Amino acid sequence: MSATGVVAAARRVVVKVGSGLVTADGRGLDLEAIARWARQVAVLHGLGKQVLLVSSGAIAAGMQRLGWRTRPHQIHELQAAAAVGQMGLAQAYETSFGAQGLRTAQILLTHADLADRERYLNARSTLAALLQLNVVPVINENDTVVTDEIKFGDNDTLAALVTNLVEADVLVILTDQRGLFSADPRRDPAATLIERAQAGDPHLETIAGGAGSAIARGGMITKVRAAKRAARSGAHTVIASGREPDVLVRLARGERIGTELIASVPVLAARKQWLADHLQLKGRVVIDAGAARALRAEGKSLLPIGVLEVQGEFARGDVVACVDPEGHEVARGLVNYSSAETRLIARRPSSEIETVLGFIEEPELIHRDNMVLS
Ligand code: GLU
Repeated sequence: MSATGVVAAARRVVVKVGSGLVTADGRGLDLEAIARWARQVAVLHGLGKQVLLVSSGAIAAGMQRLGWRTRPHQIHELQAAAAVGQMGLAQAYETSFGAQGLRTAQILLTHADLADRERYLNARSTLAALLQLNVVPVINENDTVVTDEIKFGDNDTLAALVTNLVEADVLVILTDQRGLFSADPRRDPAATLIERAQAGDPHLETIAGGAGSAIARGGMITKVRAAKRAARSGAHTVIASGREPDVLVRLARGERIGTELIASVPVLAARKQWLADHLQLKGRVVIDAGAARALRAEGKSLLPIGVLEVQGEFARGDVVACVDPEGHEVARGLVNYSSAETRLIARRPSSEIETVLGFIEEPELIHRDNMVLS
């Protein structure tokens, strides 16, 4: 068992903070707490890590702004509160990160956005661009159009999906409990903290069943399941208490706090499996021998210039097979341009995409990260 925690070696980290950690007992935003999160994230940035924050807190902020003392029961009222409160949440993060010299970006997502291939690619490109620009994306569920989090505390799942989306190395889920216990610590005095386990171990789901406070609706079961999902793209998960002073900084320096759920599958296999979820072949592109070599031997992306012929009809985000001139399949991957667009840009250098199509999504037809060699 290694003495150093998994966050230390991570380059890209998704941090999920629940409502309870950014609000004052569920009544309005805790601006000091938010400032502390921003300070800690800034330290991680200084250590060379990229951080994406998944934060709830919109409903609590909205309730306060609307002068509501008790949490409404009707879903549409909760959604209205979230819509009002999201403004405050974004404002608080922007101010706090600004004070640390960091820019933020607001991203509101739903699970359905990430299940749809085109929206998935769009979200992925936007997040990649933001990280490239050193911006800290602040992500919440889009409560106006879906209510998964309102009903089930499902920002844990959203955080895991974001982890897959950006291929983060680690997902840190901060909560109001110290981690995952062998039994419910409030009922069983013999319960002990599980320091390390395999993500996806079915035993974990059994012991995590049901625990959770009134504000943190997610409980442990969604966290354990989120870890299992994060592991599918090779990411480890840490479940730790957001009440631990400087928890993110200490984790980043290698301290082991809370529960580490380790992704046992090697990253590559995990990525293939995850891409396989998307695999339903929509078309083929015949690529030239040079492109086939670049994919097979050089770890390169597929550029439009390497495409000889487009077969079938597909949309941006569909899965397309790349075959060499002899008809052997070289790779499969998520395509950045539709079949009609690909026909127009085939055999051309990427610098001409914008002139030909009037816009440019990405310079690659299929990015290496979205590709599995056959
Ligand atoms: N996404 C919502 C928020 O940020 C839901 C949280 C809740 O159910 O309290 O407030």
